[in-house]
Amino acid sequence: MLEHHETEKLIKKHGRNTIKDSMTEILGQLRQAHKQYSFANRDSIITYVLEELKKGMKEDKGIRPVLNLTGTVLHTNLGRAPLSHQVLDKVTAMAKGYCTLEYNLEEGRRGQRDGSIEKLLSKLVGCESACVVNNNASAVFLALHTLAKEEEVIVSRGEQVEIGGSFRIPDIIQSSGCKMVEVGTTNKTYASDYENAITEETKILLKVHQSNFRTVGFTCAVEGSELVELADRNNIIAMEDLGSGSFVDFSAYGMPYEPTVQQVIEQGMDIVTISGDKLLGGPQVGIIMGKKHLVDKIKKHPLMRMLRCDKLTLVALQEVLKIYMEERHIQELPSLTMLTASVSDLNKRGMELIHQIKSHLPDLDIQLQEIEDQPGGGSLPHTRIAGVALVLNIEEGSTVQVQKRLRSLPVPIICRIKETSIIFSLRTLQLHEESIFIEQLVRVMKEVA
Ligand SMILES: *Cc1c(COP(=O)(O)O)cnc(C)c1O
Repeated sequence: MLEHHETEKLIKKHGRNTIKDSMTEILGQLRQAHKQYSFANRDSIITYVLEELKKGMKEDKGIRPVLNLTGTVLHTNLGRAPLSHQVLDKVTAMAKGYCTLEYNLEEGRRGQRDGSIEKLLSKLVGCESACVVNNNASAVFLALHTLAKEEEVIVSRGEQVEIGGSFRIPDIIQSSGCKMVEVGTTNKTYASDYENAITEETKILLKVHQSNFRTVGFTCAVEGSELVELADRNNIIAMEDLGSGSFVDFSAYGMPYEPTVQQVIEQGMDIVTISGDKLLGGPQVGIIMGKKHLVDKIKKHPLMRMLRCDKLTLVALQEVLKIYMEERHIQELPSLTMLTASVSDLNKRGMELIHQIKSHLPDLDIQLQEIEDQPGGGSLPHTRIAGVALVLNIEEGSTVQVQKRLRSLPVPIICRIKETSIIFSLRTLQLHEESIFIEQLVRVMKEVA
């Protein structure tokens, strides 16, 4: 088969090893399936293998774009916050040539990498100082390691958070070289619990955002302001891992109230860390903000060199922060636009989409339905946002199969299913993605029908 003249063309283009591997795989699948499909002769096998081979070579197997119809806005597996073209145009321009990443134009010599971002952040949230690392996990690690290595960090038993498997507060504290002192119980921790645990060796009182869960019922947690007061009195550091820190109070959009980054800084927290790609709506980074003398120490630590961000990420973050400065964030940061989309707007879009689909497939059993979406990314835990979905009812027992077919499209469609319904939540579908979504959906439904 490798010597077939059609194969030779493919080998020239993709290399012999690639073609041989793919061919072996296709033949393997064919052997397994030979009971279901009977191939009349040798030529039909060759034709089949060559067709599959060509299909496979066209397919892009790496990281590629998908359509998120799950209604989960900050979907960690799908890359969290999308960026707008306003931001990406700046990134592209900067990537093409040289830039002032670490260059001071006025003095004509070396400058500071996060300088401009630090200025923007101090204006936006009122922090004395700030620096940027690869993600929030490294931000927490670096802050603890720099400020409290070999000393004690006190944290409530109710805040021993695990986020997405590999980030566990006790493990991060331990691997940063600090000694974790647990106080309180799962449901209740009082200021006196922290106070009684403070020793000569205590360096940090750490508050952690309960990102992906809530303790409800008979509960008590210590307010940030109380922790700050306690830390000040004992001359130690108050630090908060806010996780999905937000500059916006989303309670104005029907979501529960959570303190904003500005408010936490104002309470007097010495160090605050957040993710860039959760509710902030930017690129993947971790942002460390707080008191100058502490952030300066972090900036000077050798690990900073290992955890620092590249120029493309920093430019993206800088542009996102500028958008906040100009108060255009709800319109121009896609994740914020999606999070705050109203049911009536989603309904309007939904009606238009149904109209388009029905023009191709008049008999399709598809309708609009109110559903519940999620912010995702461990932000605003347990929050459900009222959303709107296209709900497609299909034959019993075929939902999983259709869902799988949707994932195999050129631009895969990721969606939810329930019983005999396929649910396409419109909150996470961007306007520019609508036409490709409709086109592909119609294609699949024509196949199925
Ligand atoms: C999400 C989260 C992290 C991890 O942040 P990454 O940016 O994903 O590294 C850490 N702490 C809390 C409280 C979080 O919610």
